[in-house]
Amino acid sequence: MKGLRWPEPLRSYGISMKVVLAALMILFGAIPLLIQCQVMVGSFRQAQLETRGIELQNQCMILSNKMTRAGYMEAEFSGAASIDTEMQTIADAYNGRIVLVNQNYRVIKDTFNLSVGRFYPSEEVIRCFRGENSGSYNRQQQYFSQTIPVYNRNQDTVIDGVLVITASAENIISMMDGVRGKAEFFVMVAVVVLAVAAMGAVFLFMEPIRRLQRSLDQVAQGDLEADIREDSYRETRRLSAAVNKSLSKLRAVDQSRQEFVSNVSHELKTPITSIRVLADSLMGMEDAPIELYREFMADISDEIDRETKIIDDLLTLVKMDKSAASQMNISQVNVNALLELILKRLRPIAKRGNVELTLESMREVTADVDETKMSLAITNLVENAIKYNVNSGWVRVTLDADHKYFYVKVADSGIGIPEEDVDHIFDRFFRVDKARSREVGGTGLGLAITKSIVQMHGGVIDVESILGEGTTFAMRIPLNYIPRQEARA
Ligand code: ADP
Repeated sequence: MKGLRWPEPLRSYGISMKVVLAALMILFGAIPLLIQCQVMVGSFRQAQLETRGIELQNQCMILSNKMTRAGYMEAEFSGAASIDTEMQTIADAYNGRIVLVNQNYRVIKDTFNLSVGRFYPSEEVIRCFRGENSGSYNRQQQYFSQTIPVYNRNQDTVIDGVLVITASAENIISMMDGVRGKAEFFVMVAVVVLAVAAMGAVFLFMEPIRRLQRSLDQVAQGDLEADIREDSYRETRRLSAAVNKSLSKLRAVDQSRQEFVSNVSHELKTPITSIRVLADSLMGMEDAPIELYREFMADISDEIDRETKIIDDLLTLVKMDKSAASQMNISQVNVNALLELILKRLRPIAKRGNVELTLESMREVTADVDETKMSLAITNLVENAIKYNVNSGWVRVTLDADHKYFYVKVADSGIGIPEEDVDHIFDRFFRVDKARSREVGGTGLGLAITKSIVQMHGGVIDVESILGEGTTFAMRIPLNYIPRQEARA
């Protein structure tokens, strides 16, 4: 799933998490509050209007009943004064107007005294005479209107007149405006309180992340020893654990780099020190015979060779370390022929140690490899097998393959490797016996180079050894070369 992504302008600006969180909290708090306020004020207003409408209707029904009972519409009626007063009172109380229309649609009573005698054939009045009461609220002009029939005193099916009541809802509306104003003020205060609380909460919430940031800044300034620990949240715990893991890897790399540099300096210094000692002792001798000079010069020359070999090996190793696929010179190579050539070259050295060197090929193998590098890797193994062998010992090289890999084994009857050293055998400058390695011209870099080459080909190399009995190196290389993904910058 793709995570939340801001639009590019926001991302490039680097919007703060604090701002986002505070905005979300305010938004999710304020919007429901505003909606609730609107709904409540709206329904309260509606309830007020309905109550007012019902009240008005009731009052007018009572009035119309009184009129019916008193025979108000009849010509000979007298004593209308009390009913008139009541009509006036109701009209005043509801801030409205009551008009009484007779069967001829003439206004016979008007609390405003403006329309008496006028013709009033409005739709509601006509309908009311037909027996349909109507009551409505005009939202735009904010008034109620209601028609109520006044029945004949003797025949309660005959409608003698119609009361038309109109009443303003202005006071309800203005009251509601007041309520709305207060509610809105309350919401505003609540939003401000919410905003302050949200910012406070976000500040507290983000504190562990800020602490983590400070620790990371410390690391960025080069302090690899910093312990990044932030356990406040599961996320920060995971994040700091991941950072710590990377840091410890970085520390290990840093340490191995330092070790390597100090090893290199040491290794390079050794031949130079020897040369110096040889030269100094020659210079300290007066009238030294020419033979001694020759002997010392030969030793100095050996030391120079040694120094050159160390430097060559180091350069090879550095090139391997870069391990860029572009440095591989892959071609189809007949591995049988390659092995034969290597053994042919090494046979004189084996002969010197009286070591029997044999090659056993199970099948013809052709593989995509970098011939020079592969040759170097196998030469190192066979050379070691000869160098660390016993007198009259043997070295057996075998080649086999399946549909995916080819396998080269170099087994010897040599001195073997102590169990505790087997794991370090591929480390740079590691030698089980420094003196012996030096004696046979070793630099301690051969196996490190071999391992790099094997890995560059996507293969693996393994070693098995029994002290005093012999050692077997076994490597497995893919027949088809697949370039390694270049490490991302
Ligand atoms: P060196 O230049 O010293 O030979 P290598 O990296 O080739 O360096 O080997 C590292 C060490 O591993 C050697 O010094 C030796 O002690 C040990 N070693 C390598 N190959 C063999 C072997 N076939 N038998 C016994 N010891 C070996």
